[in-house]
Amino acid sequence: MTRKYVLDAPVFIYGAHLIGVTYTVPEVTRELKSSRAEIVLQEFLREGLKIEEPSKKAVRLVTEKAKSTGEHLRLSQADIDVLAKALEVNGTVVTDDYSVQNVAAQLGVETQQILQPPIKQVIKWGRRCVGCGRVYKTAEVCPVCGSEVRLKPMKK
Ligand SMILES: [Zn+2]
Repeated sequence: MTRKYVLDAPVFIYGAHLIGVTYTVPEVTRELKSSRAEIVLQEFLREGLKIEEPSKKAVRLVTEKAKSTGEHLRLSQADIDVLAKALEVNGTVVTDDYSVQNVAAQLGVETQQILQPPIKQVIKWGRRCVGCGRVYKTAEVCPVCGSEVRLKPMKK
């Protein structure tokens, strides 16, 4: 069976050798700024890379899952579209983004690393006060002690 890969932006920035059918989404190609990334993109296109919008249904599923883990605060539209495309075509996401990997794990979507080692466990994100340690959903300043509230990985 031919493997399907959905490529996140770093693939075009760092390059990668993949054997199979490759996909990416328009939002990722819009994120590419360097001329080198543009050259790598052209090479992938010559080898059959498909640039396709994900289905609205898949985008909705990914967005819901990202919200349930708190990762939606850290995911760009490109990240969500890449995950949605992988879900839609049953492909492997090629990424080095921890938030993308985290949500992919929750969706049952396989991921492949580019540079960094894979995460060992699913992280849940939340906002925690640096002063008193209270956890909030949206606050940026703690209403109790007045300290800064930062986005932090939470234990499950
Ligand atoms: Zn506080």
